[in-house]
Amino acid sequence: MIKEITTKTLLNHVKQPDTWFGLRYNLNLYRGCQHQCIYCDSRSDCYRIENFADILVKTNAIEVLQDELPRKRNKGTIGFGSMNDPYMPIEKERELTKKALEAIQKNRFPVHILTKSALVTRDIDVLKKIAEQYAAVSFTVTTADDDLCKKLEPGAPVASERFAAMKELHKNGIYTGILLMPVLPFIEDTRDNVKAIVEAAAESGASYILPWFGMSIRSGQREYFYAKLDELFPGIREKYELRFGEQYQCDVPNAKELYQYFDELCKKCGITKKIEVYEEKSEQRKLF
Ligand code: SF4
Repeated sequence: MIKEITTKTLLNHVKQPDTWFGLRYNLNLYRGCQHQCIYCDSRSDCYRIENFADILVKTNAIEVLQDELPRKRNKGTIGFGSMNDPYMPIEKERELTKKALEAIQKNRFPVHILTKSALVTRDIDVLKKIAEQYAAVSFTVTTADDDLCKKLEPGAPVASERFAAMKELHKNGIYTGILLMPVLPFIEDTRDNVKAIVEAAAESGASYILPWFGMSIRSGQREYFYAKLDELFPGIREKYELRFGEQYQCDVPNAKELYQYFDELCKKCGITKKIEVYEEKSEQRKLF
């Protein structure tokens, strides 16, 4: 169900230094996510989202953002895509992400976008302008197998569409790469999957791949995920229960071997395992 809401504030200050993308602010224009990935962490009880299938649209988001941006003294990186995908299907008609990017560009802030959608290519023109400060687009890819994507990430464009979008961004000079996580134990933790992702990434112009061979599982998310495992992968839930119990961090059993293999492949393909982030003080990029 789609619902409309209003908000008083939009830019959330990132309290701890963000070691992944160097974010200073997070921004969510929607609540809930139409991509409905079966493993999504946003279903965890701690986020208190009543029904993750409901999509809440913040109708006054752009006005609030236009008011907040000029008042921020720290022009650090604004991150899209932490609790929902900024390019989920509804964005096609509502265009909140597009309008937010236009406001951000006018106020000269750097941006990092995390998405699973090819719709991001619609906004190439504004991203190119933001790139004069800093713009990076990371695609989450957990499997290169489109059929498996349809099971795990039923509302999102399949991996081959994401790679095609990445190629388009790269062709237009936008800095882009991959977030290779989560990697689901007993489902996606194969050398073939890692090889297919790294090779497709290299072919599509990815500059970086950030891996985590594992997943996190919390209360609320666990119940939904396990029910989906029973439905789609009979027999796998039992393996999770046996190996991980109530654990939060669930690394794949062959993590060490996969990291080694991943390192070799990245070296061969000239892909780095670090993203260049925006450096606020010197206003230059740095590697962390
Ligand atoms: S795209 Fe991200 S936020 Fe949306 S359902 Fe999938 S994991 Fe969750």
